[in-house]
Amino acid sequence: MARRYEPSEIEPRWAEVWGAEALYRVGGPDDPRPRFYALDMFPYPSGDLHMGHAEAFVLGDVIPRFRWMQGYNVLHPIGWDSFGLPAENAAIQRGIHPKEWTYANIEKQAASFRRYGVSVDWSTRLHTSDPEYYRWTQWLFLKLYERGLAYRKLAPANWCPKDQTVLANEQVVAGACERCGTPVVRKDLVQWFFKITEYAQALLDDMELLPGWSDRVLTMQRNWIGRSEGAEVEFEIAETGEQVTVFTTRPDTLWGVTFFVFAPEHPMVEELAKAGGTSAEVAALRDRLQATPLTSREQAESREGVPLGVHAVNPVNGERVACFVAPYVLMEYGTGAVMGVPGHDQRDFEFAREHGLEVRVVIQPEGEPRDPATMTEAHDHQGSMVDSGPFDGTPSPEGIPRVIAWLEEQGKGRAAISFRIRDWLISRQRYWGAPIPIVHCPTCGDVPVPEADLPVVLPDDVDFSLTGESPLAKHEGFLNVTCPRCGGAAKRETDTMDTFVDSSWYYFRYLSPNDDTRAFDPGAVARWMPVDQYTGGIEHAILHLLYSRFVTKVLNDMGLAPFREPFPRLLNQGQVIMDGAAMSKSKGNIVEPMPLVERWGADAIRVTMLFANKPEDDIDWADVSPEGVRSWLDRVWRAAHDAAGREGEDPEPLRRFTHRTIRQVTELYERHRFNVVVARLMELTNEIRAALDRREPAREAATALVQMVAPMAPFIAEELWRAVLDAEGSVHRSAWPAFDPDLARLETVTLVVQVDGRVRDRLEVSPDLSEEEAERLARESEGARRVIGDREVARVIVRPPKLVNLVTA
Ligand SMILES: [Zn+2]
Ligand SMILES: [Zn+2]
Repeated sequence: MARRYEPSEIEPRWAEVWGAEALYRVGGPDDPRPRFYALDMFPYPSGDLHMGHAEAFVLGDVIPRFRWMQGYNVLHPIGWDSFGLPAENAAIQRGIHPKEWTYANIEKQAASFRRYGVSVDWSTRLHTSDPEYYRWTQWLFLKLYERGLAYRKLAPANWCPKDQTVLANEQVVAGACERCGTPVVRKDLVQWFFKITEYAQALLDDMELLPGWSDRVLTMQRNWIGRSEGAEVEFEIAETGEQVTVFTTRPDTLWGVTFFVFAPEHPMVEELAKAGGTSAEVAALRDRLQATPLTSREQAESREGVPLGVHAVNPVNGERVACFVAPYVLMEYGTGAVMGVPGHDQRDFEFAREHGLEVRVVIQPEGEPRDPATMTEAHDHQGSMVDSGPFDGTPSPEGIPRVIAWLEEQGKGRAAISFRIRDWLISRQRYWGAPIPIVHCPTCGDVPVPEADLPVVLPDDVDFSLTGESPLAKHEGFLNVTCPRCGGAAKRETDTMDTFVDSSWYYFRYLSPNDDTRAFDPGAVARWMPVDQYTGGIEHAILHLLYSRFVTKVLNDMGLAPFREPFPRLLNQGQVIMDGAAMSKSKGNIVEPMPLVERWGADAIRVTMLFANKPEDDIDWADVSPEGVRSWLDRVWRAAHDAAGREGEDPEPLRRFTHRTIRQVTELYERHRFNVVVARLMELTNEIRAALDRREPAREAATALVQMVAPMAPFIAEELWRAVLDAEGSVHRSAWPAFDPDLARLETVTLVVQVDGRVRDRLEVSPDLSEEEAERLARESEGARRVIGDREVARVIVRPPKLVNLVTA
């Protein structure tokens, strides 16, 4: 009599055994097996695991488990992205130290990962908030600083009034703080930046090295980098003779310039206002902007502006046009000055209408000429150049390179490329982050902390109250130091680093997490990297991946990493939602995974996640119940028990089914089609049950089933393998079942022949049919020939071995 399947009994027991056996410990440098580096985006310790973790970490777990069984030496590390604002905010709310809150949550999550059966190598464990880790984050900062890739400048910043800190442009969503939703304001601060723009072109070009990324993510990266081709054009200020450069993607519209605009922060504005006698008006505008700070977005939509009283000379025709200062021109984009072409740029059009400026049409669309007097919007499409001097009649797309060539000849401009991406603002005026290792000396200026003096340790005893300044700035013991260069009194930098710096290189540290002599071991990096499979959420498709790619390129240029891209293969899972909406506290629709694990078992929840959908698609938990999966696992349990007690070779039909399933499932695992794997294994379970009910042996089939279940439902598979099938060692170290090609072949399958989408014939064919063969058989089939007659086949859709569709002209 078989025991009952009782996950709450077997699961904690095996979790303990695996821990004691260090089952998932990576093999050493001499391990002869091929290496496989499986990486999950490491968790943020904001509480216990949530449903997103439960999904992400089962996907990220099935892959390394499958590779172990295929004979790889697998590295599947674990760590925590444990610095950041939420810890500090939670600490302020609850009156406890961020460290206490953070590390308590880490322990909670670690226990849940073990309970959930995640196969990580605990010896790799790291936390980015440990001094042993952030020492090397500071080292990375110094390396970037040495290479001129870290610098400090006064810059308008996005400021979250609630979190009292600066946000990167990437952390501002629709004008509001990504984290708390508070509208972001602008504030001028001296801040640290990483010069990611120096790598903008490389970040685009190297996308070729990312074969395993979805088009969706590649497009998001490409748009973020935002490369545009055009021209830099030199205008001259008539009153002062100074040159101003603008960037335009439409040099073919230069003859349509009717005004000129500077961003309020443009360094020339003050001088020009003085020259134009408009200092008072300009100062008033700036004060207004300062007093009612605008988000970048509002600024871009504003049509406010004041004349500067000076004129810019259009280099193509010598015309003098009025200059303005207006907040819709952003200092951070292009050169901070633009030529106003209201006929062909919508924002310029709106500005011109608001301020009664001339609208001039210099690109006329075919057949429907635009009239400036009646236009209600700019014509920003193509057409023929008109009123454009030597270029009249030129179609606008051709006009662009021709005008650029002409500008170059005249010495008035040049071809240029502009990127939308800005340098990475890494300064945060908060406590719970890695201190920036710089000392400000009144004599020597900015002095890097010597590497031997790292880490610059975060003091524990700080005042967290929000003042808009880093809490470190009020800590005298931290603040006051002697200058490492001259020995005089100096002050430490009190900004901490954006947590995206911590997570931009953690996958290097995983290779030698306990090395206290260097950030990482370049030998291990050369052996293990690039990462074979990276798994994580689409919400990190821009920032984290862009920053990691940038840092890897810098390390490559430093000779520390023999590759340009860290993650050639990336799997972005969908979200777990509820009733079509994201789970959130405010909606009250949050489901927690660990209570589900207690109720149904970790295996059942893992398989439910995998079975619910393709990994890339969202899972609506309202449509999902672990009940069906749990009852399937029950059937697997009973089938293995019954099969174990019956001697003899499996009958031929069952053997064929088993080997066919092994063949299909192996390929489905490779392609990450885990939901289909579950369906195939359910079918195999039914076949085994049927054989057992006929009193036939099924041990070979049951053994293969248990092995194929193992990556998804590791606990039940281990119990059945070791305790029921009496097999050697752990199922998770067993060799992945091989299939016999003769047995795995289907005798025949039905090939459906369609003509123009309608079924006209059915043929019995070999399942290994090639595309060419399938098309030939379809064209020659009775049914198709009768319908087609002497019409011509224009297109053929072939899906061997099941379908051919002949499409007639
Ligand atoms: Zn905020
Ligand atoms: Zn000094």
